[in-house]
Amino acid sequence: MIPFLDLKAINAQYRDELIEACTRVIDSGWYIAGNELTQFEQAFASYCGTKHAIGVANGLDALILTLRAWKKLGKLKDGDEVIVPSNTYIASILAISANDLVPVLVEPDLATYNLCPKQTEAAITTKTRAILPVHLYGQLADMPAIMAIAKNHNLLVLEDSAQAHGASAIDDKGKSKKAGNWGDASGFSFYPGKNLGALGDAGAVTTNDDELAATLRALRNYGSHEKYKNLFQGVNSRLDEIQAAMLSVKLTHLDTEIAHRRKVAVAYLKGITNPAIVLPTQHSTLNTQHSHVWHVFVIRCEQREALQKHLLEHGIQTLIHYPIPPHQQQAYKEWNMDSYPVSEMIHQQVMSLPMGPTITMDEVKKVITAINTFKI
Ligand SMILES: *Cc1c(COP(=O)(O)O)cnc(C)c1O
Repeated sequence: MIPFLDLKAINAQYRDELIEACTRVIDSGWYIAGNELTQFEQAFASYCGTKHAIGVANGLDALILTLRAWKKLGKLKDGDEVIVPSNTYIASILAISANDLVPVLVEPDLATYNLCPKQTEAAITTKTRAILPVHLYGQLADMPAIMAIAKNHNLLVLEDSAQAHGASAIDDKGKSKKAGNWGDASGFSFYPGKNLGALGDAGAVTTNDDELAATLRALRNYGSHEKYKNLFQGVNSRLDEIQAAMLSVKLTHLDTEIAHRRKVAVAYLKGITNPAIVLPTQHSTLNTQHSHVWHVFVIRCEQREALQKHLLEHGIQTLIHYPIPPHQQQAYKEWNMDSYPVSEMIHQQVMSLPMGPTITMDEVKKVITAINTFKI
């Protein structure tokens, strides 16, 4: 069986380093908010090119707490509209509703599955205060265009970088910028299956804004900036020392892993020739080499169920990202009758092939052959 993603094999590569880091934490006697967290935050901020990284408990909290911090700072208020793609993992949207803000769903570009700048601009109303672009599947959204729109309309930008650690593109000054360093802030997830994954739950916010960073550091810790003094009604959302130590080990291998994912993607793009398959395409205006970190390799097929069955018969495991669009979820009953045709078509046709840092090129060849022998 060729697994979709072999987490055990991924972490086994670094077993000795992970155990050493774990032992260091156990022996330190300090398990929350210590050196391991500070060191990881500094290393991750430096990797992303930002001034700050603030560790939190998970990716959803990273998004929720950033929007809440903007409310505390008077930059957002109840009922403000936030533009978000209609085809995203539901967490991006939950973060908006959790803050009594109004999610405004905008259809993606069918070619890239990312927020369409034209439709984003068309969705702006007098109540719009922020854009939440998602770098879906590992590909940076069209950030130069989105930032230009945000600047023109005086909007905040919160990137959802949960799937795109390390993706980059060139900005209008000719500088290469990574995911997490484009918007006013960015939420990251280190869920085990993400490109940078902990061995449990973890997340972070990156930003260059000192005031936002200080507010987030208080909010994640009961709203406390100083021991036993509480500025805000905060929450407990911390990235613990063990997970910070695991992440520091894995961060040092991230670029090597991304390079392997790119090699696999190139092989799929070259090798898959079945006309029933639509291959992923990259934003034509971004530097295509670096803008995608291939969190997942997503193809489209009108006969998705038959293809998935055919691949399973050949010992190949695939997943669907995602089977039900957010507006058709029971959680958002008020949107169930709304129509987002591009999103709906994507959710009916997409399928993710095996992809990751440990899949072998031999396995990739087997996947390609199996796909090319699929007949409608
Ligand atoms: C994984 C993910 C999240 C949520 O991250 P968690 O750490 O699981 O809370 C948010 N947005 C996107 C796009 C994701 O893929």
